Amino acid sequence: MALVVQKFGGTSVADLDRIRAVAERVKRVRDQGDQVAVVVSAMAGVTNQLVEWVRQLGGATYDRAEYDVVVASGEQVTSGLLALALQALGVPARSFLGWQAPIATDHSHGKARVLATEATPVRQALAHGEVAVLAGFQGVAADGRVTTLGRGGSDTSAVVLAAALGAERCDIFTDVEGVYTTDPRIVAKACKLARITYEEMLEMASLGAKVLETRSVALAMRHGVRVQVLSSFVDRPGTLVVDEGEIVEQNIVSGIAYSRDEAKVTLVGVADQPGVAATIFGSLAEANVNVDMIVQSVSADGRTTDVTFTVSRGDLARAQAVLAGVRAALDYRSLRADAEVVKVSVIGVGMRSHAGTAHLMFKTLAERGINIQAISTSEIKISILIDEAYTELALRALHSAYGLDAV
Ligand code: ADP
Ligand code: ASP
Ligand code: MG
Repeated sequence: MALVVQKFGGTSVADLDRIRAVAERVKRVRDQGDQVAVVVSAMAGVTNQLVEWVRQLGGATYDRAEYDVVVASGEQVTSGLLALALQALGVPARSFLGWQAPIATDHSHGKARVLATEATPVRQALAHGEVAVLAGFQGVAADGRVTTLGRGGSDTSAVVLAAALGAERCDIFTDVEGVYTTDPRIVAKACKLARITYEEMLEMASLGAKVLETRSVALAMRHGVRVQVLSSFVDRPGTLVVDEGEIVEQNIVSGIAYSRDEAKVTLVGVADQPGVAATIFGSLAEANVNVDMIVQSVSADGRTTDVTFTVSRGDLARAQAVLAGVRAALDYRSLRADAEVVKVSVIGVGMRSHAGTAHLMFKTLAERGINIQAISTSEIKISILIDEAYTELALRALHSAYGLDAV
């Protein structure tokens, strides 16, 4: 008898018919003699609505603890409904909210980190022959308050539960058939990958491919949880996230990701002297603004230079305010901000041992007349910043150039 964790995303539990279909799927696994622990998201669109309500009533500086109370409610509804749908099929089932599992987290409301879970009550339910249905996305802080794990966080709930229970595998059911070479909703020729390494998946997720949430991949990698991404709408194998050694034939580039959550800031005419970068980025760090790509241009006159960097769109206004505050110290000529940019990244562990990957990227974009505004690289990825209007064109061109188009 195996124990499997199955997680169902928002579109998979979008209405009562979909919830009934999920219950039947869970029942089939159970009928084969396996134990099942299920993790559910809120119905599609519900979390967005809840977040919007918090913003409307709470203003810009809303209380983050109450934000969690509101947004966690979407998963409470689906966990109870799925337990009911299972019971209607004659399958004993019990729901568990984050505090009941319990999924212990720190106090950072809105983006809490999971600290530990023994999941004892969940184990007990499974031992009694019940299907345990955990409300994803939720946790509980030491003071007993409800927390949430950040958007997309029910993937993390699933991996945490799979690790705690020592599950044989963690199946993440979503609205596409697996992890593709790039977002299949943007590039029709995107191909489903049979396997992807943890490392590549981690980069893909952190660079914008929302099919798996970043922390869930990091945790799966650390705890050796076997994750499969697959569709709840069809019965076909999905994508397995595996160690590098389990991949036989490795492409140089496995996938292409993009993120629209980017904004570019340029400080024009800052002094070209020691301490300037420390002042700029020190003041941003103090204000909790995360900086991603950084470009400093060569000083033409030996006295002043331009510094360009990116932040997430939500942080742009704060970054502008912070830099206005240190204008006297920095004495820059002007500040330019542009929120209409996108970061496109090519990812692949094969890059470690192959030259020319970056050149192909730059050449492909040049041929389409797409200007590169910033570049950053790591061992297994190259990211570039471009005008948002060219997102689709760049993704399609790069997908073909790296030989990823479906045949
Ligand atoms: P769920 O609600 O099931 O968690 P998400 O919307 O969070 O689903 O994630 C699935 C979506 O991720 C897909 O609909 C797809 O548009 C998007 N996506 C982005 N990049 C990829 C990729 N490389 N492979 C598959 N899906 C991707
Ligand atoms: N419902 C939450 C969200 O929309 C968590 C999740 O779906 O993973 O972000
Ligand atoms: Mg998701």
